[in-house]
Amino acid sequence: MKIVPHKIFAPAAGPFPGWVFPAATALLSVLMLAPAVAWGAGPASIPETETPPEPAVGTPPISVTYTGNEGFLISVEGRKILIDSLYHEGVSGYVFPSEAQREKMESGQPPFDGVTLALATHYDADHFHPQAVGTFLQNNQAATFISTDQARKALRKAFPGYEGIKDRVRGLTPAEGAVAQEKVGDLDIQIFNMHHGRNRTVENVGFLIRTGGRTILHMGDTEATATDLSPLGLANKKIDLAFVPFWYLLTDGWRRAIRKQVAPERIVVMHLPAPDANDKYINSLGGWEKVTADIKTAFPNATIFRQQMESARF
Ligand SMILES: [Zn+2]
Repeated sequence: MKIVPHKIFAPAAGPFPGWVFPAATALLSVLMLAPAVAWGAGPASIPETETPPEPAVGTPPISVTYTGNEGFLISVEGRKILIDSLYHEGVSGYVFPSEAQREKMESGQPPFDGVTLALATHYDADHFHPQAVGTFLQNNQAATFISTDQARKALRKAFPGYEGIKDRVRGLTPAEGAVAQEKVGDLDIQIFNMHHGRNRTVENVGFLIRTGGRTILHMGDTEATATDLSPLGLANKKIDLAFVPFWYLLTDGWRRAIRKQVAPERIVVMHLPAPDANDKYINSLGGWEKVTADIKTAFPNATIFRQQMESARF
């Protein structure tokens, strides 16, 4: 089974001069043995995630619950989508689901009941695990799973019950600049190839989901530049809510890529190290509070979750 431990950054491939990310830091982030954190019992000093303004009258809200790292339960008018949430241990230093939450997701217990679409942007260990996805599909007979073709093959190879679920598994890795279209119930899904760094072989896809008149984008772990994103025409798709990895929100070139090529109404920030992870790179920028304050200054329309199972409506 070729599930590679996740290394988030490919510093040498950073397309913008301002993007300097020492390889040692990336390695340290991965190797750092941060102790598991009891997320349910956060210290009183951690403020609640602010509540964004309610959506306009007549527009169904997008409800979002953070499962950790780049994982979310998304709900629009009762339609539930689970994305980048079905994995096992994850990667140390990030917020990830407790074992109890994993069990709830895989078995379809509230609030994860009635999920009809599960997505994984790529097959790295902090986004996907074949046992978690396979078990989820066995327990949620009405659910479809969509990911890259690499993830589909990993599932086929590693999950013993694959024959029983394969009809509900779709592996799609379109060519760069192309779009694959899928429909699951009345969810319209567009799938884009958004590369995970030019020096990596892992396939990463972005998902654009339309339902109830709302448009949602999740980019996964991409490092696609403004030039890479341009052919996708995302800025014309009237994206209400984009899930964006935090590195796009820190320096000018990446920020421009989001503003010009994605142009979302609202942003959820993802893949941030956990607030108490003592992450070396985040520390080099002044610490978690400063980094998140800087993001909020540059993008007042961004929401940052701190701990697992926080929710917001957009
Ligand atoms: Zn990742």
